[in-house]
Amino acid sequence: MIDLSKYSKELSKFFSTAKNILLISHINPDGDAIGSQLAMYHFLKSQGRNVNMMTPNYLQEFINWMDGAEFINIFIKERKKCLALIGEADLIVMLDFNQPGRLGEAEKAVLTSSSYKVVIDHHLDPVNMADLIISDPTKCSTSELVHELVCEMNGAPYISRPYAEALYVGIITDTGNFEHGTYSSRTFRIVADLLDSGIEKARILNLIYNNFSADRIRLQGFALNRKMVVIPEYKTAYIFLSKDDLKEYNHVKGDTEGFVNMPLSIKGINFSALFVEKDGFVKLSFRSKGRFPTNEFAAQYFAGGGHLNASGGESYDTLDNTIDSFLKALKDNVWRFEEQI
Ligand code: 5GP
Ligand code: MN
Repeated sequence: MIDLSKYSKELSKFFSTAKNILLISHINPDGDAIGSQLAMYHFLKSQGRNVNMMTPNYLQEFINWMDGAEFINIFIKERKKCLALIGEADLIVMLDFNQPGRLGEAEKAVLTSSSYKVVIDHHLDPVNMADLIISDPTKCSTSELVHELVCEMNGAPYISRPYAEALYVGIITDTGNFEHGTYSSRTFRIVADLLDSGIEKARILNLIYNNFSADRIRLQGFALNRKMVVIPEYKTAYIFLSKDDLKEYNHVKGDTEGFVNMPLSIKGINFSALFVEKDGFVKLSFRSKGRFPTNEFAAQYFAGGGHLNASGGESYDTLDNTIDSFLKALKDNVWRFEEQI
């Protein structure tokens, strides 16, 4: 755990002197990226700060309903406006990522801007990409970290309805509704305060989780039934989907979200992978139970990274060759399946 009071003092100073604050979340933003970004936004607005928001690409439907999401500028949609916001900002705060590549097409403009840069994040192994890096992998979500920083800066517990809703979305999505990740008793104390503040839990859960198309559910059935391979000797299972598979089920962005977690519910399976064929590359997702470091595996073999139990990477080979490389990598790691899984 990090010394939050030290960081919150520094942050407070920057927030109170900055003229133009820009909050940036990562490419393909998830619930925690947008949740932490909006929570920080609502807090800073309540303090009368001049604050703008940007994300490299589009928000999916399961999060675009959130209060304040309409004020998030999409870099690939409004390039000119976003470049102006980056240029005008004297303080840029990047939330929920610690690698420059997660800025997508905005990477160069952000990194070369003359603004003071802060990263607030909970992933392992931050890249030195900012003047101040507030990194705490013991937090279940960046939202949890934002809340603790905000309360420290505020000198008292801070809460408002849109702020609480944003934090709640970040926490439930990054823990898979309290199934995985580094959530703790502290997380539940925060969630208790959020619930006490009157957020509409049922409505939020419905908007986040009960938002699928029939095609998506059918794709899930197909993936599990026809495209999942179980390798008991490696305590591993993987799912692979080609572009044709996705087309057949009228795939839209986000439809395969969560698929990678499903094989972990098989008894004896502790490592799971998902391969999704995209235009010109294959996107990989990894999940594990226990101590197997999926982030090290992703970094070593697939130019990726992430958390111990949840990570991802990319392969610029065909789907078949990528699966072959994965199977070879599994063989290289066979000792781990005995010792660490
Ligand atoms: P997901 O499997 O949900 O796409 O990603 C899980 C986590 O893995 C993300 O929160 C992120 O930390 C990490 N991750 C996913 N893809 C990549 C990647 O291509 N590169 C890196 N460095 N991390 C990734
Ligand atoms: Mn996160």
